[in-house]
Amino acid sequence: MPELPEVETIVSDLRPQVQGRQITGVRSLSPEIWELPADVDGCSLILGTRVVAVQRRGKLIVIGLDNGWHLLIHLRMTGQLLLLPPAPAPRYARACFELDQSLALWFCDVRRFGRITVTSDLNTALGRLGPEPLSAQFDASFLARRLHFARRSIKSALLDQSVAAGIGNIYADEALFVARIHPATRACSLTGEQFQELAAAIKATLQCAINNRGTTVANYVDANGNPGHHQYALNVYRREGKPCPICETPIQRSRIAGRSSYFCPRCQPHNEAARAMPPEHRQRSTCQC
Ligand SMILES: [Zn+2]
Repeated sequence: MPELPEVETIVSDLRPQVQGRQITGVRSLSPEIWELPADVDGCSLILGTRVVAVQRRGKLIVIGLDNGWHLLIHLRMTGQLLLLPPAPAPRYARACFELDQSLALWFCDVRRFGRITVTSDLNTALGRLGPEPLSAQFDASFLARRLHFARRSIKSALLDQSVAAGIGNIYADEALFVARIHPATRACSLTGEQFQELAAAIKATLQCAINNRGTTVANYVDANGNPGHHQYALNVYRREGKPCPICETPIQRSRIAGRSSYFCPRCQPHNEAARAMPPEHRQRSTCQC
């Protein structure tokens, strides 16, 4: 599933090419992907408008129109947003926004879990999302306050979009590895130092993945149809049985928070063992960015 770095890459690609363009046609090829306001013709709200903003919030692509309405595009599991000519339709095309100058924004989705929401009320639509992990607001004291009473695992907490908007399974595992925290550790048991390490690890991991234009382990591609490069820089995610890049212990996989979680059992012990960890295993990151 595309997470913050993948969506950020798509938005950065689209912004200079789409902002300012007029939407000259709208085609729906799969009605179930649309979430439209009641009693309003969704197509008439979009047709003829001009795109004034292309932004990201969490894992959502937010396209602002000059009539005050917004398109919220959630790629979910297998969604793609591609900038291509208006014809022919690419594989698994579900919707098409034709733009002036013979371009089109195609929404493609093999599994059809993706959604396009048309709304004028951005605050309500995005209101449940927590802070952006790369913002100044997201730091160790925010995490410590937010998770002070959280008895669930830190992995579960990081996947909660009201805690950190945009983090999913890949970057939760990668950030926990960098912070040397076992994913099953209860969130409320983390020390102040661990919250510091975790906040820094989340920011560094996400920024590194953005620099690498995202992770392609399934079908993620950028707006031009190209895969990302961060899959070559992953430390633990989908590396079960392979050596830890720091201590060479085989990476383990375990089901935590309902998701496959990858970690190094030596570099990421539970809290009690972590305090006894030798200095050579306290290296923070293998990121080359
Ligand atoms: Zn290790």
